[in-house]
Amino acid sequence: MHRITVVGGGFAGLTAAITAAEAGAKVTVHEAHHTLGGRARTADGPYRTNEGPHALYNGGPHWAWLKQRGLLGPLAPIPPLEAARLRLHHRGALRRTPPLALLKLLRRGVGPAPVDTDFLTWATGVAGEEGARAAAHYCAVALFHHDPGSLSAAFVHERLRRAAKLPPEAHYPRGGWSGVIDRMAARAWNLGVRMETVSRVDTLPADTPVVVATSLDAARRLLGDPALTWPSGRTTLVDLAVRSRRGDVFAVSDLDAPGWIERFTAQDRTLAPAGEQLIQGQIPIAPHESKADGAARAEHLLDLGFPGWRERLTWRRESVANGRTGAVDPPGTTWRDRPAVDRGDGVYLAGDQVAAPGLLSEVSFNSALTAVSLALGRKELDLKHA
Ligand SMILES: Cc1cc2nc3c(=O)[nH]c(=O)nc-3n(C[C@H](O)[C@H](O)[C@H](O)COP(=O)(O)OP(=O)(O)OC[C@H]3O[C@@H](n4cnc5c(N)ncnc54)[C@H](O)[C@@H]3O)c2cc1C
Repeated sequence: MHRITVVGGGFAGLTAAITAAEAGAKVTVHEAHHTLGGRARTADGPYRTNEGPHALYNGGPHWAWLKQRGLLGPLAPIPPLEAARLRLHHRGALRRTPPLALLKLLRRGVGPAPVDTDFLTWATGVAGEEGARAAAHYCAVALFHHDPGSLSAAFVHERLRRAAKLPPEAHYPRGGWSGVIDRMAARAWNLGVRMETVSRVDTLPADTPVVVATSLDAARRLLGDPALTWPSGRTTLVDLAVRSRRGDVFAVSDLDAPGWIERFTAQDRTLAPAGEQLIQGQIPIAPHESKADGAARAEHLLDLGFPGWRERLTWRRESVANGRTGAVDPPGTTWRDRPAVDRGDGVYLAGDQVAAPGLLSEVSFNSALTAVSLALGRKELDLKHA
């Protein structure tokens, strides 16, 4: 029987553990924190926030895998009336419809966008500079990057298509992502996976193959390998609760600069106490900008979309997510150029900044499957290109 050690009990680690156990391996998971879930944990208490705004995209490979195993659980769909309350901040005002130039980039015949050119240059050629900038900023919802136009056109265009798809790909596990994590943990448990929490690994075991399913920063420290780096986003996270009021928008997407604010109780009333609304936003910030700069831009969007929010405020918190929102690919690179899953000597990486395709957590999922396949001595999976 194969034995496998998994370091990290987040979405990647649990995916790896379940996959390996389903294949008959004897699996041990070590998680440093006292609970499982990593960045997919939902806060306890009256305001059920994830670390930032989180959506599960139903076009991803994880969706079918979770569904097949009954791990998706109840979902909170966006009511159509609420979806109609999405607003776009463009030329200084809130609008209901996107600029026509942006829509040009979504036409069926447009693309594939080149890998070697930055998105702004390529998209300007298709839709003009204003449309290209608006499209780049719209992608902030899935990129968390302060300058999406500077990234590879192929990378950004794929995300633009997915983020703008109708009906929307974004789905919300009711009660937050922790529900999915709890079901994954229960499945792993039933398959006989040994899960040790408050169990930080400082030295890799030499007697079993190891899947290192931590953030890339933590993997770099653990493996002592300075080459384990890849660009990611840096974004101010603003979470707040306000007393309910008719007329609040569902979400504001900033097309004048990258940023997204969403009222999560529009789709899931369980996330805040009765009579209150939970709003989560993320405003990507440049290296020279501070958390306060992001918060100020968030407040401007709140002023426009949630009149009187300051007087209605019941709870608020802010933080910065730095390098925690997955990989972004600069021009001339694709996911294949990121740190490889196979590190040699029976060590395999899984996570959202390694060489696997997909959007955000889908990279964690895909790399976990590849890591386990290699650890079990099977050939690398033929994953769909992204
Ligand atoms: C603000 C924000 C918004 C996001 N929005 C979305 C979204 O809408 N949709 C989406 O799909 N994804 C989203 N993501 C990304 C998603 O959260 C991550 O891709 C995913 O949760 C990463 O899972 P992971 O298991 O790879 O890493 P992590 O969740 O970071 O898990 C790694 C685990 O390893 C543990 N660990 C680290 N070092 C050690 C050690 N030495 N020993 C033992 N354990 C260790 C950590 O405690 C952690 O639990 C978002 C992320 C952020 C920050």
